[in-house]
Amino acid sequence: MPKTLSQKDLPVSSNEKNTDTWSRVLAKLRFIHGEVSFNSWLKHMKLQSAKDGQASFSVPTRFIREWIVSHYVSDICRIWREEDSSVKTVNIVVKSGSSSHDEIITQEHVEALKVTNIPNARQTYSTTTYSNSGLESLDSPLDPRFTFDNFIVGPSNELAHAAAKTVAESEDVIPGSNPLFLYGGVGLGKTHLMQAIAWHIRNNNPERRVIYLSAEKFMYQFIRALRNKNIVSFKEFFRSVDVLMVDDVQFICGKNSTQEEFFHTFNALIDNNRQLIISCDRSPSDLDGIEERIRSRLGWGLATDINSTTFELRLGILLSKVEQMNVRVPKEVLEFLARKISSNIRELEGALNKVIAHSSLIKREITIEGTQQILSDLLRTSERIVTVDDIKQTVAEHCNIRLSDMNSARRARTVARPRQMAMYLSKRLTTHSLPEIGRKFGGRDHTTVIHAVRKIEELCAADNELKNDIELLTRILQN
Ligand code: ADP
Ligand code: MG
Repeated sequence: MPKTLSQKDLPVSSNEKNTDTWSRVLAKLRFIHGEVSFNSWLKHMKLQSAKDGQASFSVPTRFIREWIVSHYVSDICRIWREEDSSVKTVNIVVKSGSSSHDEIITQEHVEALKVTNIPNARQTYSTTTYSNSGLESLDSPLDPRFTFDNFIVGPSNELAHAAAKTVAESEDVIPGSNPLFLYGGVGLGKTHLMQAIAWHIRNNNPERRVIYLSAEKFMYQFIRALRNKNIVSFKEFFRSVDVLMVDDVQFICGKNSTQEEFFHTFNALIDNNRQLIISCDRSPSDLDGIEERIRSRLGWGLATDINSTTFELRLGILLSKVEQMNVRVPKEVLEFLARKISSNIRELEGALNKVIAHSSLIKREITIEGTQQILSDLLRTSERIVTVDDIKQTVAEHCNIRLSDMNSARRARTVARPRQMAMYLSKRLTTHSLPEIGRKFGGRDHTTVIHAVRKIEELCAADNELKNDIELLTRILQN
């Protein structure tokens, strides 16, 4: 396979990308914590770099540094990771540029202290700790924006919304709805709905013990408990809750001991008539790397999916966001965004935040032309919808095989490998399920697609040439 990567195809410089990421993170922080916090603290943060898993900032005084560290760092980390998962930690150093800034507590700060100190003004909410063991909190914080009030209902999510609402409002487990299994693609509102249930129960039934956490955190806590010989209190803790929510369970797949523990916890809770709510990026039947008995039990309750959004829903979400943020954005700009950015809501919100942040910086009205300019990169990639047919065609050309061999039964390596590459790319670049992809490659079984995906992943790890080919094909297909 002769083609190689060329420099001009490389993405935008990482500096520019980091500045963009920071402006989006900052816009979200501003939205969550409000103008007073923004003006007193957050706006003083200057991004120095984001590399090697760390985002580094400078601030002008130690006082500001300490305040940010104690109040905002966990949110900064979390939001940054949503944008770019390679960043794991945040580092803040004091760099006093002008002496007028040094360690002066201004009236602005005093006002902010008053606001931030009132009970409940803290915006994340995390209560439960291991009983007696003195360990850190076991659940994940809830995002104050993720409530039912802020959730816009449309045809793609109305079933999931109705199921979530019913479970949230019921004091007991509803027969047939345990576990409630919410599934759907990235950024379509699974976490939002789960946290809305948690908020609802915490506000209306505070005596019910609700735990929300990501599957990754479950795994992390489990391994930690094993290491610290705390496994008994770990088990007791998880078995004593009324409602357990585990987000993104696909991350537990393939991790055998965690999977096993999760399964026991899960059974114990269901047998004791406690509510379990689970989210996943695919349906129970599409989950691989999970034991059959676990998979089938996951599907016992109520499984509802969240589908791709419609234009009206996207527009509705944008309208509600600008209303909450109290900013004026012309309707035609919102319509433009809702039309152009259809892949997921997180991206749509990110685009809106970026446009707002940008125009407040340069103090100019928001127009469609301005929006096009600010979002040029994003629009370029999201305009291109890759189909399985595109992929088959492009890979066949690249590897010099006949298009018909993508569907044929021939097993010679020269055609089988490109076919596997095309299946792999179809899984990665389209939203089709494994069985659908199998059908599009001459009616193959979904297990053949799984095999192809694994094979290519394995080969890419060992073979740079193939890895480069895959990257090149990805970029050709997306541009
Ligand atoms: P997922 O967990 O499915 O990846 P999230 O729940 O994190 O997605 O949603 C991504 C973003 O989109 C969040 O900021 C969320 O508030 C927003 N969002 C998703 N669906 C809706 C909706 N129906 N109404 C309002 N906001 C939504
Ligand atoms: Mg999520």
